[in-house]
Amino acid sequence: MAFESLSDKLQNVFKNLRSKGRLTEADVKASLKEVKMALLEADVNFKVVKQFINSVTERAVGQDVMNSLTPGQMVIKIVNEEMVALMGSETTEIKLNNSNELTVIMMAGLQGAGKTTTSAKIAGKLKAKGRKPLLVACDVYRPAAIKQLQVNGEKQGVPVFSMGDYQNPVDIAKAAIEHAKSNDLNVVILDTAGRLHVDETMMEELANIQKAIKVDQTIFVVDAMTGQDAVNVAKSFNEQIELDGVILTKMDGDTRGGAALSIRAVTGKPILYVGMGEKLSDLEQFYPDRMASRILG
Ligand code: GDP
Repeated sequence: MAFESLSDKLQNVFKNLRSKGRLTEADVKASLKEVKMALLEADVNFKVVKQFINSVTERAVGQDVMNSLTPGQMVIKIVNEEMVALMGSETTEIKLNNSNELTVIMMAGLQGAGKTTTSAKIAGKLKAKGRKPLLVACDVYRPAAIKQLQVNGEKQGVPVFSMGDYQNPVDIAKAAIEHAKSNDLNVVILDTAGRLHVDETMMEELANIQKAIKVDQTIFVVDAMTGQDAVNVAKSFNEQIELDGVILTKMDGDTRGGAALSIRAVTGKPILYVGMGEKLSDLEQFYPDRMASRILG
């Protein structure tokens, strides 16, 4: 189960806090030190942890908290609020143009992150909202990626545009846009190629697409199980091909929580959705407050 160890540890800290009638500054600081350790063990980026603990400490050691009737509860409430803030507070949607105007979404990420699957999941969501999406196979390197997109597109009842694996992704994207316009489709979702590691050719390819066509939303797909690595990869993508939002996949696995808690603070970009399984319906909107409640138990 995701966050199990982090949740268990935090709940222990909170149980101790609740059991005390009065709290001294030393009590609060000792508890926050335990919170800090639990976050670091959950693979949260250390700078993010430091900033987080500073913000909580600043609010939690004041007289208002210490003299309140339930100081333990107050500290817990502050941890909760700061955690929600860390993940962006608000729920953010993929920004779409008006239905009569084409919206181009480019999916980016490393190989195996879940781009192809997530592209089809998003297409399904957009279709359910009354949009007319087109899935586009720009991943011309990974064997079977085109077929996978076609199979998933069919399951979603969404058309898939492909030109085989000999064409340049920029040309495919351009042709797909023409195809969408002449077929009354209003959202183009480009499933691009990933690599096993951040690599210059991949970044150039994505940057070239952004230069050649008007991409409205660049969405970074990343495997939550990879923890801090996910955050580092997000950072380097964001530096090279500015991102609009992030989708964390495989949140149904036993991720420790590091990526969910750090990615927003490190990149400044919101988490839009979380992938909760391999089925095409397993994509959930991201709610920072619900995620914090899940983590804090
Ligand atoms: P791509 O290389 O980035 O296009 O990645 P794929 O879409 O092919 O996904 C890689 C693997 O991860 C596939 O086996 C997917 O079924 C799986 N996958 C994608 N998203 C999720 C998710 O949210 N949860 C789980 N458990 N598996 C996922």
